[in-house]
Amino acid sequence: MFCPNCDTQLPDEANFCWQCGKMITSADHNQYEYCHIETIRLGWRFLRGIVYCFSAKVSGPNGHYLTKKSKEWNLNQEQKVPLIFEELRQNLIRDGWQPIGKDDKYNFRRQIK
Ligand SMILES: [Zn+2]
Repeated sequence: MFCPNCDTQLPDEANFCWQCGKMITSADHNQYEYCHIETIRLGWRFLRGIVYCFSAKVSGPNGHYLTKKSKEWNLNQEQKVPLIFEELRQNLIRDGWQPIGKDDKYNFRRQIK
């Protein structure tokens, strides 16, 4: 999880933030889901070689699940990869995910309704 006050990444079971000292209550724990973009190696494809995709994994009070995947890409498509990444990122933002933390290219949170 991330501190609701300063967005520092904390262990899921944290009950205070080591950065700003805020006490983390169970309401804070239950308020947000967190999403992280990872690179997944999908395997070998005929004529394409090893293909990868970006995958957006969610964790929070509703458990762990995959919310979105990018298009597949391989290492010969270097120029396309940032576009594929950005497309996934924009899709997440459209779904209500907010970029958070220092490395906000990869990390998002969303309030649970
Ligand atoms: Zn904090």
